[in-house]
Parts: sequence; C-alpha cells; structure tokens
Amino acid sequence: MRYFVLTLILVCSLSAFGFNISSSTVENGKTILIEFDKNETIKYEHVRIDKKRFKIYDNFVLIPISYYEKEKNVKAVVNYRQYNDKMKFKIINFRIVDGKYKKEILKVAKNKVTLSKVNKKRAAKEYKEAMQIYNSVTPASYINSKFIMPLESKITSEFGNARIYNGTLNGYHGGTDFRAKVGTPIVSCNDGVVVLATDRFYAGGSVIIDHGRGIYTSYFHMSSFDVKKNQKVKKGQIIGLSGVSGRVTGPHLHFSARVSGIQVDPLQLIKLLNKRL
Ligand SMILES: [Zn+2]
Repeated sequence: MRYFVLTLILVCSLSAFGFNISSSTVENGKTILIEFDKNETIKYEHVRIDKKRFKIYDNFVLIPISYYEKEKNVKAVVNYRQYNDKMKFKIINFRIVDGKYKKEILKVAKNKVTLSKVNKKRAAKEYKEAMQIYNSVTPASYINSKFIMPLESKITSEFGNARIYNGTLNGYHGGTDFRAKVGTPIVSCNDGVVVLATDRFYAGGSVIIDHGRGIYTSYFHMSSFDVKKNQKVKKGQIIGLSGVSGRVTGPHLHFSARVSGIQVDPLQLIKLLNKRL
C-alpha cells in the first residue's frame, strides 16, 4: 500500500505541467517569455496564438507582441506531448495593454519623406529583402552569455515613440537611438552571424546579426563596416562605425531587434533574455 501511494505521488509530480510567465500583461511592442518546468515526461512543442506558432526551445518560448496590436486578452495554446503520446493542449492567458508611447515631431530631408519613383522602388525592395531575413529561423542558438549594449552612450529616443515626419508622415520609432558622433565604434551585442551589411535608403549603413532561433539585432545609420555578410561575430566585436546615413535628423545609432519576424523593444528583450542567461 505504501509503495502504491509513493508511486502515485511520483507519477502525479512527474505529470505536472508547470510554467512561469514573465508578466500577465504586456504592452504592444514588447516581448513575453514563458518558461516551462523541466519534466522528463513532457516534450514541449510550440505555442500557438491565432494562426501564428512560436517554437519552444530548451523549455522556453519568446512571444513578441507587434506594436500595432490593440488592447485585448490573449489565449496562448501550448502544444506538448507527454510520454511521447499524441499532442496535448494547455491554455495560458495574458493581456495586451497600451504602451502609451510618447509622440515625437521630426524634421528630415524632404526626399526621405516624399519619395521619387526610383527611391520608392528601392525602399520596397530593401524592405522585402529585410523581411525575408527576419522571417527565417536558424534553429541553433549562437547565444552563450548575457547581451551587452552596442555602445555605452545616452539614449536620445526610446522605442515606440509615435513619430510625425515633416508634419505629414506618421510612423513609430522601431528601435532605440543612442547618441553617437560620426565614427564611434559599434559592437555586436552578442555572438551571431552577420546576415546583412550594406547601405539602404531609410536605414543607411545597416548591419543585421542573426543570433539564432529567430532573434535578430540591427544597427542602422552607420558610416563604415568592419564585417561582411556570412561572417561569424563575437559579442563585443567591432562591427563598424556609427554615422549619419539614411533618414536621420543627425548622427546617432539606431539599434533594433526582431523576434520571429516581429519588431520589438530591443532593450526590454535584452533585459528579459539576460535574466535567464
Ligand atoms: Zn532610431
């Protein structure tokens, strides 16, 4: 009898499904991290929200929330297998809330707001190329230690600020701006592979680094590159010098990040990841 009770307790504790969510509410443009309790009988597969799937790696998953999402309750469906049996489901609830971002009014070069036919075509092509990169997932992770900042400097504009360019064009700030006079060395914030190092219409001199598992960081408005496409980089390695290229009001570094193709607050993402690295 005692043996039976002990076995029962053991089986019950083995079959428990446990998780820890970084927060029960998340602002638009930010990321949620769900960590699942290690359990040898469970294989966590992915989390599904509406039609989008987010793969669970090493018992954790990152869920990026687009800036354009409105306030709502979200049902995240966790798909897992126990004892290699058929797929099971578990629902985790969280709520998207308004980030209440500030408004910024900017004045930039006229030809970066009212585009010529040639520039329109160029910008569209570059956007498509970038999205192809961001939407592809390298299953391996290059990350072995905590993220660092691309440079030590003052933040001049935060992620998410609503922006009005030259009084007409509306957009939002998709990254974090750091004060950087032209020629300031910029470093990779973690290990990865350079997937783009080229000059682009809006972003100017751009470097994009793949950190694996759908995580990318980008460094814009640079004046020169020290790295090439397909090159492996180490955390802290100089990737180039900051500049004033692309659609800018002055010299600075624009630093941004994407998870599973979605642009998110890079500093909040780093904070989240660094807690478990
Ligand atoms: Zn910026």
